[in-house]
Amino acid sequence: MSAAKATSGNLFAQASVSVLPPLPLAGPYDYLVPQGLVVQPGDFVEIPLGRQAQRGVVWGEAKGDVDPAKLKEIYGLLPAEPLSDVSRKFIDWVAAYTMTPPGAVLRMAMSAPDALDAVKQLFLFTLAGENVDADIRMTPTRQRVLDLLRDNPPMEQGDILRETGVGASVIKGLLEAGLLRRVMVDPPSPFRRPDLDLPAPDLSDDQKQAAGHLCDKVADDGFSVTLLDGVTGSGKTEVYFEAVRDALARGKQVLVLLPEIALSAQWLDRFRSRFGVEPALWHSEVGQARRRDTWRAVADGTASLVVGARSALFLPYRDLGLIVVDEEHEHAFKQEEGVIYHARDMAVARGHLGAFPVILASATPSLETLANVGAGRYDRVELGQRHGLAVMPTVEIVDIRQDRPERQRWITPTLKQRLVETFAAGEQALLFLNRRGYAPLTLCRACGHRFQCPNCTAWLVEHRAWGKLQCHHCGYTAKAPDSCPACGAEEKLAACGPGVERLFEEAVETFPNLKIEVATSDNIAGPKAAAALIDRVHRHEVDLLIGTQILAKGYHFPMLTLVGVVDADLGLSGGDLRAAERSYQLMTQVSGRAGRGDRPGTVILQTADPSNRVIKAIAAGDRDAFNQVELSERLAHGMPPHGRLAALIVSGKKENEVDEAAWRLGRAAPRGENMMVLGPAPAPLSLLRGRYRRRFLVRVDKQVRLQSVIHDWLSRVKTPGSVRIQIDIDPYSFM
Ligand code: ADP
Ligand code: ZN
Repeated sequence: MSAAKATSGNLFAQASVSVLPPLPLAGPYDYLVPQGLVVQPGDFVEIPLGRQAQRGVVWGEAKGDVDPAKLKEIYGLLPAEPLSDVSRKFIDWVAAYTMTPPGAVLRMAMSAPDALDAVKQLFLFTLAGENVDADIRMTPTRQRVLDLLRDNPPMEQGDILRETGVGASVIKGLLEAGLLRRVMVDPPSPFRRPDLDLPAPDLSDDQKQAAGHLCDKVADDGFSVTLLDGVTGSGKTEVYFEAVRDALARGKQVLVLLPEIALSAQWLDRFRSRFGVEPALWHSEVGQARRRDTWRAVADGTASLVVGARSALFLPYRDLGLIVVDEEHEHAFKQEEGVIYHARDMAVARGHLGAFPVILASATPSLETLANVGAGRYDRVELGQRHGLAVMPTVEIVDIRQDRPERQRWITPTLKQRLVETFAAGEQALLFLNRRGYAPLTLCRACGHRFQCPNCTAWLVEHRAWGKLQCHHCGYTAKAPDSCPACGAEEKLAACGPGVERLFEEAVETFPNLKIEVATSDNIAGPKAAAALIDRVHRHEVDLLIGTQILAKGYHFPMLTLVGVVDADLGLSGGDLRAAERSYQLMTQVSGRAGRGDRPGTVILQTADPSNRVIKAIAAGDRDAFNQVELSERLAHGMPPHGRLAALIVSGKKENEVDEAAWRLGRAAPRGENMMVLGPAPAPLSLLRGRYRRRFLVRVDKQVRLQSVIHDWLSRVKTPGSVRIQIDIDPYSFM
């Protein structure tokens, strides 16, 4: 059915539809449909907008809010599969939830612009016919080409040249002689169908039961959310692969969301051996041509399995039937810029709109998800044990106030002793410190000057390997100075505190004969570097790994038996809502790297606060107790997952304008029994990339429509165009 409708009364009036361009406008605009053109909702079209031609999507019926005489005509239809009803509903839903214009969300769905261009066809060559004109001069090279094409389907020129070793002029000659013919075809999809009959590993009874449960959800063919809750190394991946297989067998497309896909080489290998094909990868590092091909293949359904980062949610699926969110607790699923959304929550919404199952997998589920399980909205399947002979690691707490490292050193005698034992046994170790660079702060011992970023409220971090100071918020860099810029003193600059580079220095001094490597996002930036590192660890070319949270991800190194958390207190201060939860998750995940093979693992937590409940919970392996306390504290304050939160960030280049706007907003803040507004207050990062920032925090009871409250509030206050108000629903960052 066409959405084009004749406008009021006049039978001969031209039909019109609404079209949404991928721009942050209030909504779709009405356009006339030219005579002879038939458009359907979801069609990609070209439209005039301002003085330019713009691409957009037919969103639905005309809104009728503009005089038809003033409407412009659609230029024409673009050669792409239409965007499905569900995709459009999803875009509208995300826009409403995140309080962003639908066009801004649509832009994420149109992130491969050249996918909308006409498909570039391939020229292939084939024999013109059987009757070879006797007059034609036949040479051995010509004969080779003809022989090849007689035995093969039409081929590209490059392939013919490679196979026969002839030059391009030979093909030209044959064409002119009428012996060859050119045919044009669409390029084949780069994706092959997964092989669903490859042998799966023998699942344990527990795994079988969990897999059976997930497969039932796929068979039920409706919306559901299931938490696949299993300790690190319990085989969650193998288990959800079964559900993936079943969904593919039903002809559905499947999306697996991974938090950090560039680091997932090991996972991808397992995927390849299970399904025999390359999945369609989608993340920010996929090149333009590949993006275009992938986008099209997702739209026409030839890409049946997509593995991606959060943005993969917005691909134009033809028939999506299952989403798996692996490591669902990961904060990397929250997009903090542009459209601010949490991919896990949007995945659930997508499943709801598309009426299909969603699987959330984690060893340390978020409190939000656990609360949903508790309320009966989500199902849960559990895997309580590691697979095979592997057992959970033993956790030891080391009190750094008693067991002191040497001055300007960070490895305690106990940890050092454990490292010695580990290496003596021919095993590998990991030291975890979530701080990139050499030192988080550089200070002048003569005058007290601290090196700060000129654009942000942040210290510059020394990266000694590059000879630079860097801001980790905006990327500003400066050459590491020899003297203090404030007092001019020389050789008085002191590095304060450790980063992984400094820890590396200490480790090299302590263990001069070992192979030690640092792994952070600075040197393990892409999939290639990550895969190479993994190989080196597997081949035991690394004895000791030193790294940040990038090493906490699902890596599986059988010979890695010791994990040392150098500063277990690091994430616990700062007091943001999820500091304890996040620390707990991160330390549990990094601990989960120890002892995954048949040799048992040990984890050492170095802390100055051994009675902290997060530290104690990890040591006791008591996740449920920790979550209980954490949930009841949140309940007492009406915080998520019990209440709902939003943050408003007011920012601009002029501090007084920002303060003025924030003050006005503060005066108009909504009040009520079931809500509370905190602020305005300077954000912890009160200056970021040269913009001054003030924050509000809005808390409402669960049943209150948070978006309406904010909408009403903002509609009552006028702010100048130079001041931006960013809305962050369900904030995870409090900076
Ligand atoms: P998780 O995702 O829960 O941390 P994985 O799925 O990565 O666990 O499994 C941990 C390791 O155990 C992997 O190397 C995996 O291949 C292996 N494994 C899990 N289940 C089985 C099984 N049933 N048969 C063989 N190997 C398994
Ligand atoms: Zn900065």
